[in-house]
Amino acid sequence: MLIRFLGAARTVTGSSHLVTVNGTTLMLDCGLFQGRRDEARRLNESTCRGDVCDKIDAIILSHGHLDHCGRLPMVSKLAGYRGPIYCTPGTADVARVVLEDSAEIQVENTDYMNRRSRGMDQAEITPLYTPEDAKVTSKLFRTMKLGHRFTVGEIGVTLLEAGHILGSSYVWLDFVEGGEKRNVLFTADVGRFNTPIIRDPVVPDRLADVVITESTYGGRRHDPTVNIEPAFLELLRDVIARKGRLIIPSFAVGRTQTMLWYIEKFILEGQIPAIPVFVDSPMGVELTHIYDNHRDAYDTDAASLVGQANILKANNVRLAKTSQQSREINSQAGPCVIIASSPTCEFGRVLHHLTKSLEKEKDTVLFVGWTPPNTLGRRLQDGADRVRIFDRFYEVRAKVTTLPGMSGHADAEEMLRFLKPATSERTKTFVVHGEPDQSEIFAERVVKELGAEIASVPAIDSSVIV
Ligand SMILES: [Zn+2]
Repeated sequence: MLIRFLGAARTVTGSSHLVTVNGTTLMLDCGLFQGRRDEARRLNESTCRGDVCDKIDAIILSHGHLDHCGRLPMVSKLAGYRGPIYCTPGTADVARVVLEDSAEIQVENTDYMNRRSRGMDQAEITPLYTPEDAKVTSKLFRTMKLGHRFTVGEIGVTLLEAGHILGSSYVWLDFVEGGEKRNVLFTADVGRFNTPIIRDPVVPDRLADVVITESTYGGRRHDPTVNIEPAFLELLRDVIARKGRLIIPSFAVGRTQTMLWYIEKFILEGQIPAIPVFVDSPMGVELTHIYDNHRDAYDTDAASLVGQANILKANNVRLAKTSQQSREINSQAGPCVIIASSPTCEFGRVLHHLTKSLEKEKDTVLFVGWTPPNTLGRRLQDGADRVRIFDRFYEVRAKVTTLPGMSGHADAEEMLRFLKPATSERTKTFVVHGEPDQSEIFAERVVKELGAEIASVPAIDSSVIV
């Protein structure tokens, strides 16, 4: 078996690995590299060329986050791939929206760059792909149910619940090589146990010869998930008592629906009054509809709550898709909740809401996850008392706080718990999808605590025969 690590190796973006066995090649995920523009573009293009991707028999897509699906249109565009992309029904719907949004952003960005450099003797840049390319890709999705084994050539493939976002899965490959049965476990992104709406990750039920595991938080420990709900309830009660506006900068996929879910649950349980809640993000709105359409993917708690009400589309929830609807929210008085993109506060509709709320003592800004350094979100999270938005400075008088324990990814302890039943002294582990320090700490623990034969941290575009 030959494995080639085409992305998310010693980094967290661009998840993609090729597995070749008995003449069949599978691509596991095909995510977009993000980061410094030139370097990301070079990596995105070089790993999708025909000579790299011309022998792929099928692509297996774990979930619809951009760093797992965002390079798919390039494999079709640059390498002419027209084969199947296997994924769950939830992932097909999420990825379709995410890819179209990504294509639109790329077209806008390249238009802007070309306008800025016009007359400077520089060659025009073209987008990595267009909305039309994204549509070609979406037609290749072939949906598979969780737990249903199917085959590509001589390789058996099974997708299982990863508990990360709607539709997310991890992947088992099984095949016979040299007369011996072999198993490969690709974790993709594994979620936390006990998070709302979606089911918990299903712990592996067999030993793996080879594990390709994520390590996003390989060296960290999150706050317990049981603390999230009471902390958020207390904060909401405080917002309501002060008649303030609560601004939540949030990812459109997953986090927006989770926050909406908590609020509607509190209202249904009579813990808070039915205050107005706004989802202000075109993609957040589309994803909320998709979450609502896939109730079969909910966990039992969520299913029983849904039995009582249309929880993500309750009467107090307004979904703002157009910019006119967004402007109307701007003048909304408290108490209310506004969930808007983006989580970094570097762009997106949340900026307009921040300009209205930051200088008001009764308003609150709540961060619901990790924010990258050198962003407005991080500066606010770190307690800045004055920030610049667009072309003016704002004094920060609003309460700015962070809800602990919110993460889409399992922490180190949870990942070890997940991997334990699959790991033996014969297991060769490849630790990917993490910054190098996180991956290395985690690799050490996989050997020491789970007894794996080896755990290495592969470099980008390296190959290994196992
Ligand atoms: Zn993910």
